[in-house]
Amino acid sequence: MRIAILSRNENLYSTRRLKEAGEARGHEVDIIDTLHCYMDITSSNPTVRYMGKVLPQYDAVIPRIGSSITFYGTAVVRQFEMMGTFCVNESVAISRSRDKLRSLQLLSRKGIGLPRTGFASKPDKIKDLIKNVGGAPLVIKLLEGTQGIGVVLAETTKAAESVIEAFMGLKANILVQEFIKEAGGADIRCFVVGDKVVAAMKRQAAEGEFRSNLHRGGVAQLVKLSKEERATALNAAKAMGLNLCGVDILQSNHGPVVMEVNSSPGLEGIEQATEKDVAGLIYAFIEKNAKPNANKTRGKG
Ligand code: ADP
Ligand code: MG
Repeated sequence: MRIAILSRNENLYSTRRLKEAGEARGHEVDIIDTLHCYMDITSSNPTVRYMGKVLPQYDAVIPRIGSSITFYGTAVVRQFEMMGTFCVNESVAISRSRDKLRSLQLLSRKGIGLPRTGFASKPDKIKDLIKNVGGAPLVIKLLEGTQGIGVVLAETTKAAESVIEAFMGLKANILVQEFIKEAGGADIRCFVVGDKVVAAMKRQAAEGEFRSNLHRGGVAQLVKLSKEERATALNAAKAMGLNLCGVDILQSNHGPVVMEVNSSPGLEGIEQATEKDVAGLIYAFIEKNAKPNANKTRGKG
């Protein structure tokens, strides 16, 4: 098959691994820099241009759209959908997953376990907002944060009030969440491809830290999922409409709760922790499902 990886950086581990794994399975794999794609969106015969030429009709596109280019990146994916190219994740699903509030609302609608979460935009009634999600200790998150930056643990109501006031003073969008203390600084990354959790790892935060992000010094190890955890991850992926994603789960004393769903999950940590050929499994999914016009929205979303 002819497959394109949409990625800003061909040197990233995940991008390199995807190219290598695809070629090992006999595919022709091009890495296309998303921001360098351009197009005539009004043409009745949609195409994508790149480096002065029209890109070939690929059998499949693997979008690796970084959160800083979601707006343009999803437009490029949508153009491929209009061309009938099979996109492993559809543009609408990527957009959904990038909006933390929209994601949590969608997951909640499907009855998926979540930490109690609230959000507000104006600093009036902060006390009531805090009370409403169960009081301190609380986790306060910047909606635009990644890699654990912008995630704060407020141990007391007073601390929570000051942090919320400070963020709101900066006009930052935030959410306020029940602190799952019993997770003990660990979370579980479930790597979903199609309708399977193909790999899972437990990430343990560094000593004295509650954020388990590998970028914050967390350590990953292989984990065996419970039936409930597996079902939660698959339901979350389905609710978001993502074929390929990382579902992050906390083990709470009211069952597994979903923290976030990542539409461009990294391969390095999960392949190292599980010693699985996760990139190869992504191609197995493509080989089975990539047909012209197989995407649900075909660019309509
Ligand atoms: P980011 O998008 O920056 O990774 P997350 O929401 O994933 O932000 O939070 C970062 C880390 O903080 C998580 O991996 C988890 O270890 C910890 N964490 C986040 N929310 C909670 C919570 N409600 N209770 C306990 N720990 C949490
Ligand atoms: Mg995270």
